[in-house]
Amino acid sequence: MTETETIAYDVVVLGAGPVGENVADRTRAAGLTTAVVESELVGGECSYWACMPSKALLRPVIAQADARRLPGLRQAVQGPLDAAAVLAHRDYYTSDWKDDGQVGWLDGIGADLHRGHGRLTGPRTVAVGDKILTARHAVAVCTGTRAVLPDLPGLAEVGPWTSREATSARSVPGRLVVVGGGVVATEMATAWQALGSRVTLLVRGKGLLNRMEPFAGELVAEALTAAGVDVRTGTSVESVTRDDGTVVVVTDAGDRIEADEILFATGRAPRTDDIGLDTVGLEPGSWLPVDDSLRVTGHDWLYAVGDVNHRALLTHQGKYQARIAGAAIAARASGETDLDSGPWGAHAATADHAAVPQVVFTDPEAAAVGLSLAEAEQAGHRVRAVDVDLSSVAGAGLYGEGYQGRARMVVDLENETLLGVTFVGPGVGELIHSATVAVVGRVPVARLWHAVPSYPTISEVWLRLLEAFRDN
Ligand SMILES: Cc1cc2nc3c(=O)[nH]c(=O)nc-3n(C[C@H](O)[C@H](O)[C@H](O)COP(=O)(O)OP(=O)(O)OC[C@H]3O[C@@H](n4cnc5c(N)ncnc54)[C@H](O)[C@@H]3O)c2cc1C
Repeated sequence: MTETETIAYDVVVLGAGPVGENVADRTRAAGLTTAVVESELVGGECSYWACMPSKALLRPVIAQADARRLPGLRQAVQGPLDAAAVLAHRDYYTSDWKDDGQVGWLDGIGADLHRGHGRLTGPRTVAVGDKILTARHAVAVCTGTRAVLPDLPGLAEVGPWTSREATSARSVPGRLVVVGGGVVATEMATAWQALGSRVTLLVRGKGLLNRMEPFAGELVAEALTAAGVDVRTGTSVESVTRDDGTVVVVTDAGDRIEADEILFATGRAPRTDDIGLDTVGLEPGSWLPVDDSLRVTGHDWLYAVGDVNHRALLTHQGKYQARIAGAAIAARASGETDLDSGPWGAHAATADHAAVPQVVFTDPEAAAVGLSLAEAEQAGHRVRAVDVDLSSVAGAGLYGEGYQGRARMVVDLENETLLGVTFVGPGVGELIHSATVAVVGRVPVARLWHAVPSYPTISEVWLRLLEAFRDN
């Protein structure tokens, strides 16, 4: 019989994705002892099957599309992408699915890594293999999410792709069906179509990217169609089979589509089904509700940070939460009870509520922060939205011939500050942080006139938005 070893730490972090890594970093920097438990690769979904590989696949696609918008350059980039080189570029960014670099980093900050599946066995206690880790101050659950597959008979035998296969595939399927209309579906449809697949996109709802302003999904759908993707909205999958290697999809409209692979990008579920939540009175498989310091409701030692709390399923937002959770754990460990948790405080993830930025790396890019017009109205704000056609901006024209894009600013009429901003167009991803600063900083519109954008950049869209607000 193996003997159980018990090791005491100040903090035990369950899951070494970007979020767990940052909780470890902040608690170590505050002088606490920290253990990190990881069952797969240090770096998590983001590094190996999500953000990094998807953006490594998409960057050449977008650069090629940009180049093709420029006279003089267009002729030089007429050929197809070198798919093998793009996949190799992706492999480089995932370190060939090896985590030595990130393990070295954890070691460098002085956190102890315990490999294996971790489970709570009661308050402040985590079992991993034959070890019991106890936490004097906090356990932080940072176990992220997994892809959800629909409940279709025989689906397992089809061998469907989830985001994992879509970001790690070693070759380009000739025909790919993508099911879903959100960020993963649109990004992966963009990437694989450009890499040589013939993509059919099946979207149950009326349009794409339905959590953004409606024009975002409309412009992205138009561009996907122009790129050759067969976009079918209002369509759901009735059945999927694989016959002789060929995937056969039948839709609710009775259409039959053949493909080599099928990707389901149909949502995420928390990885909390087998982490011992029942031992601390919580429901296995549930999202973990938290307060603004990321502490799980009803527990003074348990934190849930990143995707697993369902506040905002984005790496940057999870890392933001991790900085706050780390600071809150350290402050409480040193006996502070009155944490700095106001709207500007270091111990409250206030930006999660109404200032979350997101960039969708399609062509055109769609970037948004804060509330859409519909969300702002639903929240009871008295608002005015102003729209600008991005082609009216000199910098946009210079960026690419025939530039198409649109921007919207949602203004709170109570105090004339911004509640949300959306940009759609080539190259706009880099613009969104200006909007984030304006939204988070609650900069009055009158003051924004003094934030002068450089000429001739796409950022001059800010002037057009301010003029549209003044003149309407
Ligand atoms: C295709 C795709 C593309 C994306 N692109 C972007 C993007 O461009 N930008 C962006 O901001 N976000 C993006 N996201 C979202 C982003 O991946 C997540 O928000 C982010 O990974 C969340 O980080 P996390 O640390 O909370 O969880 P994860 O990254 O999922 O890490 C959780 C870790 O916990 C480990 N774990 C789970 N259970 C246990 C256990 N019981 N014991 C031990 N270890 C365990 C897992 O193995 C994993 O390593 C994308 C998502 C997908 C699917």
